[in-house]
Amino acid sequence: MVTLLLLVKTHAAVFWGPGEPFTVEEIDVSEPGTGDVVVRMAAVGICGTDLHSVRGEFRRPTPMVLGHEGAGVIEVVGDGVRGLAPGDEVVLSWAPSCGECGDCRRGRPAACVPLHRAIGAGTLVDGSTGLSLRGETLYRGTATGCLAERVVVSERVALPTGGDVPLREAALLGCAALTGVGAVLFSAGVRAGSSVLVVGAGGVGQFVVQGARIAGAETIVVVDPVDGRREQALRFGATHAFDPAELGGRMEEVAPDGVDYALDVVGDPATTELALGLTRSGGTTVIVGLPAVGARLDLDPAQFNRREKWLTGTMYGSEDPAVALPILLEHVRTGRLLLHDLVGPEYALDRINHAVEAALAGVPGRVMVTP
Ligand SMILES: [Zn+2]
Ligand SMILES: [Zn+2]
Repeated sequence: MVTLLLLVKTHAAVFWGPGEPFTVEEIDVSEPGTGDVVVRMAAVGICGTDLHSVRGEFRRPTPMVLGHEGAGVIEVVGDGVRGLAPGDEVVLSWAPSCGECGDCRRGRPAACVPLHRAIGAGTLVDGSTGLSLRGETLYRGTATGCLAERVVVSERVALPTGGDVPLREAALLGCAALTGVGAVLFSAGVRAGSSVLVVGAGGVGQFVVQGARIAGAETIVVVDPVDGRREQALRFGATHAFDPAELGGRMEEVAPDGVDYALDVVGDPATTELALGLTRSGGTTVIVGLPAVGARLDLDPAQFNRREKWLTGTMYGSEDPAVALPILLEHVRTGRLLLHDLVGPEYALDRINHAVEAALAGVPGRVMVTP
């Protein structure tokens, strides 16, 4: 019990609202309950979803601890925890779902409606947050809130890495890689020898490219306006990379009938329509990027009956992270899934505002905070 006393306080980056600077505060954390673990965070990526809150595009209660793409080391295990022990290296999944609804039972925890309600409310599924600051409730970003030295989570979302992947690289597996590689392997179900279009080659897009290469796609076309991202995509396995401005004639040369699979990693109605338009008859278009609240698509139904296209979307890789992560780790160990070059600049927790600024500016690689 002596260890638990040390856990009453920890430092966290607190988000106060769009346009306001983060502050690093000593916060109060509830002790781990049955089935919970305490994770000492080693690396936390600043994800696009965090930036949606920072820019005010998602309205979330504040003050809030953001951060949901993290890796660290188990420090303490609560009662009833069997699968983890202190010292284990883990990646956090941000889907501490209810475990009881139809979606959870079908192995789709990221689609769990109570989870999404909780994410909107800035809490865990049971409505609590387990965090407070000077007696006031602190909310949790994406049902996780790991931009902190320590976080208490259910053991179900602390997924062991085996300890052979550097933690700053493993952090990427917790959101960007599961989302991007999962979109290809578990949502689109890309087949060997097929053609794939990837619209948007940011953090998640680079993992979509790698997923397509891992799936054995023969043609992988990337569309992105940023030179550096197109160059990186070519290194990660893209066969062609185009600026959207020069797309017209080029796509007809590469895939005259359209591509078998088109993944829209941007999630804007214009990019979804572009992806759908470049999908061949009978092919599949997948929305990967998060659309803005209130976004609407204006679609020609003939794309679906006369041309028999499929349009779908994916959330967090469309697979239970506990199932998907071991598959991704195996691809990392065999050198098929590359993480190192996607880690960007690192910042200590007390430089959180610089980290967020760098992420907003779109510096290459994932901006990492190392609490
Ligand atoms: Zn994320
Ligand atoms: Zn559920």
